[in-house]
Amino acid sequence: MIQILRTKAEVNEALADFRSSSQAIGLVPTMGALHEGHLALVRKAMSNGDVVVVSIFVNPIQFNNEEDLIKYPNTLDKDLDLLEKEGVRFVFKPENHTLYPNKPTLEINFGQVDQVLEGAKRPGHFNGVGIVVAKLLNIVKPNRTYFGQKDLQQVAVVRSLINDLSFSTSMEVVNTVREKDGLAMSSRNLRLGVEERMVAPLLYQCLNFAKGELLAGKEWFAVKEVVMARFEKEPLARLEYFELVHTDTIALVNDLPSSGKRSICIAAYVGEIRLIDNLIIID
Ligand code: AMP
Repeated sequence: MIQILRTKAEVNEALADFRSSSQAIGLVPTMGALHEGHLALVRKAMSNGDVVVVSIFVNPIQFNNEEDLIKYPNTLDKDLDLLEKEGVRFVFKPENHTLYPNKPTLEINFGQVDQVLEGAKRPGHFNGVGIVVAKLLNIVKPNRTYFGQKDLQQVAVVRSLINDLSFSTSMEVVNTVREKDGLAMSSRNLRLGVEERMVAPLLYQCLNFAKGELLAGKEWFAVKEVVMARFEKEPLARLEYFELVHTDTIALVNDLPSSGKRSICIAAYVGEIRLIDNLIIID
């Protein structure tokens, strides 16, 4: 039976025996409304032999858009069923006031990585992510923590949190899980209307197109212009950014080096729903 833990004390009690017998604990942080993408993280943790703790917490302080927070999907019963089937032992599901008895006064400045893409478009977002991840790491004290490549910039931010603050966890990054038509799975996809859902694979199509063009030697700015023009023609979609970056630092770049990591990141509204995706160009 899956056990729901609501406080730090409950987590400590539930994990005490595993900790004292040096069983590795794996943490999968989520905001719920689980799908195959989340389950890929869970399966990775299970395959590592971890005692898996999945946290489900819609973190209010990482939302810079009130409506996005209010409308965030909640499918708890289904989530618990899915996790139970995967063999997950523990769900950590704190209340807001448990994690935030007071509004945190601490602010985390991640530096350059927070100046671009999601950092620039969603002020305060990564501060909120950093604070909640730090809290979860301090409460669960996992040996391993699992994050999705779907949120590439979040991976960079959490890596710097773990390294710069010497958290005793390793981080594993799991590939993006997609629908058959290429759309990256996301809890927000549930909010797309029928026509919007049909348009949404455009993000992945543009990423793939750009990858092919870049690897064939085309100039980045020329590729980007084609993509911008493609979005201009789609009345249901609005491109917010389409950028070539260094995969680890998320620094904006304009070309492919002979060696070095590159990814393309995209954000676009489809109807009212803001979607993000990315693709690794050079690993
Ligand atoms: P969220 O519930 O959206 O905060 O996501 C929780 C974790 O699942 C994050 O580490 C995400 O990057 C990861 N995740 C979300 N969608 C996907 C996906 N389609 N494929 C792989 N990982 C994902």
